[in-house]
Amino acid sequence: MSEEILENQNGDILETAKRIVRLGPICDSCLGRQFAMLATGLTNAERGRSIKTVLAMQASAEDDRSWLEDLAPSFRSARLKLGRKDEPDARCTVCLGEISPEMLDAWAERAASALAGWEYSTLLVGTKVSGLLAENEELLLADGGSRHAEPFKSELNREVGKRLSAITGKEFDLKNPDMVVHLNLEKGEAELQVASLFLRGR
Ligand SMILES: [Zn+2]
Repeated sequence: MSEEILENQNGDILETAKRIVRLGPICDSCLGRQFAMLATGLTNAERGRSIKTVLAMQASAEDDRSWLEDLAPSFRSARLKLGRKDEPDARCTVCLGEISPEMLDAWAERAASALAGWEYSTLLVGTKVSGLLAENEELLLADGGSRHAEPFKSELNREVGKRLSAITGKEFDLKNPDMVVHLNLEKGEAELQVASLFLRGR
């Protein structure tokens, strides 16, 4: 299906983004993830930030203060415009902060510690989403109505994978990895799954 047809089905991207932002404070990644299929070569955080920037500029141009208020909890530029420069970002109501840059770094460190001491060549990251996050994601899809989203776990796997690859220097293998690191969000732990073939070879 072409992007144009999708667009007609789904209405204007910025209208969809506005609807999503009104549901509650949302971080750049979670907003960008709702449009992940529409622009390649960007992180979801970059997509989300770009959308918030355009929305804030439009609100300023139209002098729409109520709309700036909607954006303010999760966008500093809107808070500056409203004279609320000392307020921090509100916690994202979708990921509850799990996909912030700090948490991604922490997950990569946790995964690297779990892998320490093992000899292996290739790895893969998987995510076990908690029930609460899965519910939040479903609600966002239903109420936000974007048809361009990717799953939360895809983003987490990719972003932690990038960081883990930088730390370990190991290659990723989608089909036959020696090691799979499962990020268990319910427990806050990185769990290892060792390929049986790989173990036999040791
Ligand atoms: Zn979020």
